[in-house]
Amino acid sequence: MKDHLGREIDYMRISITDRCNLRCRYCMPDGVECVPMAEILTLEECAEIAACGAALGIHKIKVTGGEPLVRQGCCDFIRMLKETEGIRRVTITTNGILLERHLEELLDAGIDGINISLDTLDPGLYKALTGGGELESVMRALEKAVEAGRDRQIPVKINAVSLDLKDMAQKLGCGYEGPGWEELLELAVKYPVDVRFIEVMPIGYGRQYESVDHERLLARLKEIYPGMEKDHRVHGNGPAVYYRIPGFQGSIGLISALHGKFCAGCNRVRLTSQGYLKSCLCYEDGADLRKILRGSAGREERKSRLLEAMRQAVWGKPAAHCFENPEQMTESGNMIRIGG
Ligand code: SAM
Ligand code: SF4
Repeated sequence: MKDHLGREIDYMRISITDRCNLRCRYCMPDGVECVPMAEILTLEECAEIAACGAALGIHKIKVTGGEPLVRQGCCDFIRMLKETEGIRRVTITTNGILLERHLEELLDAGIDGINISLDTLDPGLYKALTGGGELESVMRALEKAVEAGRDRQIPVKINAVSLDLKDMAQKLGCGYEGPGWEELLELAVKYPVDVRFIEVMPIGYGRQYESVDHERLLARLKEIYPGMEKDHRVHGNGPAVYYRIPGFQGSIGLISALHGKFCAGCNRVRLTSQGYLKSCLCYEDGADLRKILRGSAGREERKSRLLEAMRQAVWGKPAAHCFENPEQMTESGNMIRIGG
């Protein structure tokens, strides 16, 4: 399905919950109010929207949250998506805390890729940054996922928000002294995983934090690893630019929403946990699909209304984000509702 600028939209992120078992400072620090469960789409409703999306050419789905693995039935939902005609790839993004427990079930359901969000390898800083998370459980899950994924060709990726870790540690009052984001590179040496750095976006609580500038991060990488080269292989659905470094098993990806505006190639829409189809992170533009799902129309009529609303939302997708001019943003929600 194309938007008014001719961009092919074939990827949808579905946030299945706004609940989370962590409290990352930049996303859901203590005090974020969750919406009542009755306002959150059921997994059947999410699947109905996904099926309409597939009919319109959305072939790739990312299951996100909140933390998707805290939602009961998450793995069954993934199985449902995998059985839906037209959906070719279903991946998940998780903080990894519950991953070890659900790994087998996810694999059985047919998951095609697992992204683990991890911003530091220091247990103390991890705990402070995530509001109590145990790094050890994420590391165990990572090892198991890599092992299981190796045989089944299921890629495991690390997503790290590009924070100034030393500054963060100081603000949080924990004794971390460095090195900073560089420490995460070790994961791509030790495991065949891509490590992707994501510039902090000024959404919700993210506004309070300054991102490490990816131009500087790239310059520093080139300085440390003069043998680094662009990696032109396709790694997934998104806008990351990848680099290979001699001696590394995985690649390093940079997702530079601020310093490498990639909107001209944007291929995605987002379904919030409350059933709003967002056409761009930055704006409120989109369609209230929950209203259609819960209206009085019969199944066929509902389907045709959903298809029309989705088509229109995609068609009107804004040309580009405006993170550089935050006063123009109309999105006022938190990342926890949007799903990243
Ligand atoms: N709980 C899951 C997780 O952490 O992967 C899924 C939801 S989380 C909202 C999805 C992704 O959004 C995570 O990788 C998280 O680090 C990222 N994220 C949250 N707030 C962000 C912000 N302001 N800027 C950039 N990325 C952000
Ligand atoms: Fe939870 Fe993910 Fe947000 Fe952290 S980034 S608070 S794990 S939803």
